[in-house]
Amino acid sequence: MKIGVLSLQGGYEKHIDILERLNIQTSKVKYRKDLLSIDALIIPGGESSALSNLIEKESLYTPLKKFISKYPVYGTCAGLILLSKSIENNNKVRSFDALNITLTRNGWGRQINSFSKNISIKIFKNKYKGVFIRAPKISNCGNSIDVLSVLNNSPVMIQQNKILGTTFHPELTDDTRIHEYFIKMVNKC
Ligand code: GLN
Repeated sequence: MKIGVLSLQGGYEKHIDILERLNIQTSKVKYRKDLLSIDALIIPGGESSALSNLIEKESLYTPLKKFISKYPVYGTCAGLILLSKSIENNNKVRSFDALNITLTRNGWGRQINSFSKNISIKIFKNKYKGVFIRAPKISNCGNSIDVLSVLNNSPVMIQQNKILGTTFHPELTDDTRIHEYFIKMVNKC
């Protein structure tokens, strides 16, 4: 199994570190050819508008959209924004419409309001430390969405078939449970 990490901007190195710690082969995805040799993809956090620009610049929108329709994909924070169907306060991001959710960028506040919080995730027995950095706030979920975790009435971890999303950053903790869960999803496909 090889998991690619979209490496145009943002926190891709930390995802690669965690996957390597879990003995998973990884590769950086920067060009369309990089999509040919991977079984799954992580879209990291960063700045969704910058990511969206770079995706257009590298002519990656259509190849990524095709990849997302076939293979398991996990988006964290800005990566989740890119996977969503609808972004409320947006005119800069062209999203992939892969998760049937509506969200608001920076919906928990700006950088200064970034926080971490121990959250319950329904697939894990023990709590998980969620690190939220200018996180998007999910305001609406379609029926096809499985909500795995909620904070203050807003979903913060969701899944729709083989697409996984968190509004927080597991790559910034030493807790590898979410990456392990994604690896299990990839193994099932
Ligand atoms: N606020 C950023 C955006 O809108 C996301 C922040 C993050 O990925 N940590 O793209």
